[in-house]
Amino acid sequence: MTDLRVRFAPSPTGMFHVGGARSALFNWALAERSGGRFVLRIEDTDAARNRPEWTEGIISALAWLGISGDSPYFEGPYFQSAFEEQHRAAVAKLLADGKAYHCDCTREDVKARTGSEFQGYDGYCRDRGLSEGVVRFRTPDEGVTVVEDKIRGRVEFPNDALEDFAIARGDGSPLFVLANVVDDMEQRITHVVRAEEHLSNTPKQQLLWAALGAAPPIWAHVPVIVNEKRQKLSKRRDKVALESYRDEGYLAEAMVNYLMLLGWGPGGDREIMPWPEMVELFRLEDVNPSPAFFDERKLRAFNGEYIRALPVEEFTERCLPWVRTIPGFDREVFAKVAPLAQTRVTVLSEVTGNVDFLFLPEPVFDQGSWDKGMKNAPVEILTGYAERLATVEWTADALKTALEEVGAAHGLKLGKAQAPVRVAITGRTVGLPLFESIEVLGRERSLARVRAALERLGA
Ligand code: GLU
Repeated sequence: MTDLRVRFAPSPTGMFHVGGARSALFNWALAERSGGRFVLRIEDTDAARNRPEWTEGIISALAWLGISGDSPYFEGPYFQSAFEEQHRAAVAKLLADGKAYHCDCTREDVKARTGSEFQGYDGYCRDRGLSEGVVRFRTPDEGVTVVEDKIRGRVEFPNDALEDFAIARGDGSPLFVLANVVDDMEQRITHVVRAEEHLSNTPKQQLLWAALGAAPPIWAHVPVIVNEKRQKLSKRRDKVALESYRDEGYLAEAMVNYLMLLGWGPGGDREIMPWPEMVELFRLEDVNPSPAFFDERKLRAFNGEYIRALPVEEFTERCLPWVRTIPGFDREVFAKVAPLAQTRVTVLSEVTGNVDFLFLPEPVFDQGSWDKGMKNAPVEILTGYAERLATVEWTADALKTALEEVGAAHGLKLGKAQAPVRVAITGRTVGLPLFESIEVLGRERSLARVRAALERLGA
């Protein structure tokens, strides 16, 4: 047990972003490794943009990743809105100490004075002794504020480039930059590990820590996540919601593993690793500050590996939320083909399309697959195979030999002869191994499907 205390402080203003998930995991790894605490703080002070369902979404998405109150390292959730009194007290203290002041300037006032474009606040009200209006923090005029960042090293911010930034609105309500610091202070946070986009807030926040009489935490700003065009992932353009990956049937453990590698690696070329090992190896110092590429194809490949590593019973179980939605679903029948599906899919939702033909009264045909499957002597093959299906020994091997023979009689190799049969039976041109599928489907239903296909072909 150490006194390391990290936090994850999302604002509940939208779907839970994969970047947020990555920050949460880095913090979680640190807490677990050191036996410290991970504080979940919901920054819900932007009443206009918050919604309770986003908060619930965050909590359930974190739990899916394994971050929850079931662990001794978890603390919270705390809600920022509950601490407004402390935020206001901090503002009052800064005002009383002369480290902050009221200001009644509008943007236009400042523009009119400084002439050009708005370049930040010009400090006009610093010594006017107002007792109302926006509260601004008095930033130093000279020198530099040095942020020591565990990932980026030393980052210098010249103080003359820092405006006297606002810490509370005209109605007294505290602003993010202050509330965030006061909460970190009250919650005795030792390490602030968060998104790179907050680096620009950090000199201001570090000044606030000092002005409130406390030593700042250790800072670490994790790299931005980009798409294949090197653009920052955005919710309008990219698939960023963790929930959408969960719903598509990515396994949490694959997702965790992949997200941990966005900006971090244990060195060498090892990538697939169980969580305890990542916890053991994770160091903030080893996080790379340059943008991390979110490569969904790679994530898919990871997921496929994780799926194949599952014990088959567990795979079967974990497919249930998807396959259960197939009308006529039967768990025992599914258990027979699950091992075949397990070697083929990369996300669990794909299993549905691979096995639904077993449960539906008839397969779902799409015209493209039908046309593709019915290219080579379909009537001859299906007619010949229907005859064999009526009497053949009901094993995958015998079913295969029978089709080989029917194909040979029409000059077709098995691969070509399979195509019309596969479409007739499953509705698709690719899928699970055909003869095992027919075996599970059963003689009656298989025969009925082959005959129905012949009818469709007008034979
Ligand atoms: N609530 C802020 C956000 O969601 C987090 C700020 C922080 O981590 O310090 O971006």
